Order: sequence, then structure tokens, then C-alpha cells
Amino acid sequence: MGSQEVSSVDWQGKNVTVAGLGVSGIPAARALNERGARVTVVNDGDDDRARAQAAELEALGITVRLGDGATLPPSTDLVVTAPGWQPDKPLFLAAAEAGVPVWGDVELAWRLRGSGGRKPAPWLAVTGTNGKTTTVRMLASILEAAGLRTAAVGNIGVSLLDAVLGDQEYDVLAVELSSYQLHWAPSLRAHSAAVLNLAPDHLDWHGSMAAYAADKGRVYEGNTVACVYNAADPATEDLVREADVEEGCRAIGFTLGAPGPSQLGVVDGILVDRAFVANRHKQAQELAEVSDVHPPAPHNIANALAAAALARAFGVEAAAVRDGLRAFRPDAHRIEHIADIGEVAYVDDSKATNTHAAEASLAAYDSVVWIAGGLAKGAAFDALVTGAAKRLRGAVLMGADRALIREALTRHAPEVPVVDLERTDTGAMSEAVAQAAALARPGDTVLLAPACASMDMFTNYNKRGEAFADAVRARADESA
Ligand code: ADP
Repeated sequence: MGSQEVSSVDWQGKNVTVAGLGVSGIPAARALNERGARVTVVNDGDDDRARAQAAELEALGITVRLGDGATLPPSTDLVVTAPGWQPDKPLFLAAAEAGVPVWGDVELAWRLRGSGGRKPAPWLAVTGTNGKTTTVRMLASILEAAGLRTAAVGNIGVSLLDAVLGDQEYDVLAVELSSYQLHWAPSLRAHSAAVLNLAPDHLDWHGSMAAYAADKGRVYEGNTVACVYNAADPATEDLVREADVEEGCRAIGFTLGAPGPSQLGVVDGILVDRAFVANRHKQAQELAEVSDVHPPAPHNIANALAAAALARAFGVEAAAVRDGLRAFRPDAHRIEHIADIGEVAYVDDSKATNTHAAEASLAAYDSVVWIAGGLAKGAAFDALVTGAAKRLRGAVLMGADRALIREALTRHAPEVPVVDLERTDTGAMSEAVAQAAALARPGDTVLLAPACASMDMFTNYNKRGEAFADAVRARADESA
């Protein structure tokens, strides 16, 4: 199975092994089966849920092997994997040895786009350690404001496979891509792409920072119009330099300061474009006001500039950038203002599951009572605490790895009062909020930005954010 467009490949009789029964595996197995491939799904787990899913696929003529995701079925021509499967799994080592290509869900969608005779929509792609979902949603909002048929797809909302195979026709897709998905997407060629930022994350999966960065950098490969980078994060610009792009494709920077030529930036509270204007050495185009971005926190302005850069690369007018940003509202648990109680603001950023995100979040407020802790995933907290120290009124720590944060606070901010919550029961978040309220003074922000994953105490970050919001609302009701 070479690099040719698979929409033109005859799938009849091809032996495809789908790795993983899951959100991407099941639709992939079905789509390939419908196209005449002989599909075998292999899955590590063998529980009731997997058996029920297997029965449904088997009824379609798909073979399913439960309890063995390691062995490569003989005569496999292609492996299609769930993006989260780690590259050093025996299945992939066997595939590499046998010269069998491995595609992820994104690669499969890329290859199948345009099948059924429809004109394939170009992709505007976004990756980065933090801010992907927000930026892609902002981008889709801008594209919609420009009257284009579009959707935010990929790691969010609609799956890529559904978007490329469904009945709906699109003019352009706003695509969120994770580093895992990029790892398994060798032939993806976006119209334009942005890497928002690059900080250590998922290193256990990628093996090293260099490997993680290289996978993120794949998003720029073959771009035709613009490679959008973060001028404040030189690692993203390095990736542009290393990428093999189409002739004429431009490097476009975004910055929170005044933009240079070929950049978008901010001047006197206005988002301006000095990249997609007739004379970028002399002219700038006003796009929107900072107050058009919700919330107008610095990192979110950066997200808006990245979204604007991709939209402008696609030829969108300035007015649509403004209208799209105005219409955009962030998803829940991303710097979500819950309530003001006694001149203290309560903000839920449960989605700040790593230190880089929490750093951006803390930087958005002058005086913060910080609620943090959970599963640290191997992170160190020294840089985060050092940077935030002067903004911290106090900290309330909870969860499995809270001691790591406490130790960093003791080292770098010994004057900051810390409440260490041992309890992990369902009332723990209420107590955290009560303790934070006791530390806060008028004008402060109580900010849940845990810098950690949630699974030690909650099902996921949504549940953690809901527990926080419930506790805050209960206090607001009491004080009303
Ligand atoms: P992702 O899809 O990459 O996880 P989200 O848009 O869901 O990103 O935002 C996740 C969290 O990352 C937010 O809650 C916020 O704390 C933080 N964040 C958002 N944008 C940025 C950014 N540009 N730089 C740093 N942190 C950010």
C-alpha cells in the first residue's frame, strides 16, 4: 500500500488490520469493510462492552480478535490504528518488520476524502500542547461568519472520518490534531497549519521531547499557503524551518506585541494583520478588538491570532474575523467564570491539566487563590510556581501528587499560605472552595487550574470542573 490516494485504490480483497475497538476503530472498520476490504479488528481488552461491539461488527462480516492486540494477523496489507496506541507496541514492531504500513485515523480520513466523487475540502490544521480545541472552534466560528460551509473536526466534535465520508459537503475544515494523530499521519498535507506552542507533554508516549516536537512538526509538511507559528515560542518557528512545504508557502508569526511584516499581533488593544495585506512593509489591517475575544486572557488572544491567521490564509475578510471571534464562546471548564461572591471571582479552568496550561491561566489574573493538584504525569512544578509566585494570594492543594506542588511552593514561594487537603471524598472540592474563599480578599480570583490530570479523584476534567462549579454556586446561593 504505497503513497497513492487511497480513494482511488481498490480496497477489494485488501487485508486490513484495525488496531483498537474504540471511537476511531469501529467507524474505520466499517468504512473499510464497506469498501470491500477484508477487515480484522484486534483489541487488547475482552470485556462485556468489547464483546457486544465485536458481535455487531461480526454481523457485518468483520473478524474481531479480542484479548490480543499484540499479534499481527498473517498477510496483513495495512494496519489502521487508534491514535493513542503507543508506537513501541509489538503489533507495530511486527508491522515494521514485515514492511506493512501503519495509518492512524487521520491518515485514513485524509486518504478517503473525496471518495464518492465529492470535491475534497481543504484542511486548516491546528496542533500544539495547549489551546487546540479553543483555536479550532474560534477558526470554525470565523469561517462560518465568512459564509463558508465548515466544521470543527478531529480531536473534537465530529470525527474526521465522519466529516470526510458523511453527506454534508464542506468548503473547508477546521481540524484539531493531537501529536498522536500526527505521528500516524505520514501523507497528510494541510492547506495551512498552526503549531500554537510546544511544552513537554505525553513524553512517555513519544519517548523524548525531540520525538514529540517532530510529530507536532508534521502538521506543516506540504502546507501550500501558510505555516503559522508562535513568535514567542521559537521551537514552533524551528519546526516551520524544518518542514518541507510547497513552493510559495509562507511562514506567518503571531505575537501579543506589535507585529512585524508577515505577522499578526496586537497594537493598542487591536488585533492587526501585517501578513495578508497588499503592502505588509507599510500597511496593517485591523481585524478585531481585544475585547471581541472571550475571555480576553493573554493566551486566548494568542489563540485568536492563530485562528485569524489561518482564516486569513484561506482568504477570509477582516470583518468575518471580527464577527467570528465575537460569536465564539469557549467550551466549559476553560477559564469559565462561574460566579462573583463578595468581590471575589471564581473561575473554572479544570482543563488546565498540565503545567503549561496552568501557567497561562495563572498569568491571566493579578491576584489568585490557586486550587491545584491531581495526577502530575511526571511533571515538575518549579518553573510554574516561580513564575506565578507574585500573583499567589494562597494555594489549596488536593489529589495524589499535591506534595510535589507543595514542595515547589515551599522552595520558591515560602510566604504563600498553603492549605493541604488530604481528603479525596466527594466533599473534597467543596472544602477546597471553602478554604480558598477564606484565603481570598476582595478583588482576588479563586482559580481552579490544577496543572494535573483529574483521574485520581474524578472521572475526568469535566467532572472535576462540575464539582468546583457546584461548590461555588452553593456558596453563591448561601451568600445571596
Ligand atoms: P487543547 O485542546 O490543546 O487541550 P484547550 O483549548 O482545550 O486546548 O485548552 C486547554 C487548556 O489550556 C485551557 O483550559 C487553558 O488552561 C490552556 N490554554 C489554552 N490556550 C492556551 C495557550 N495558547 N497557551 C497556553 N495554555 C493555553
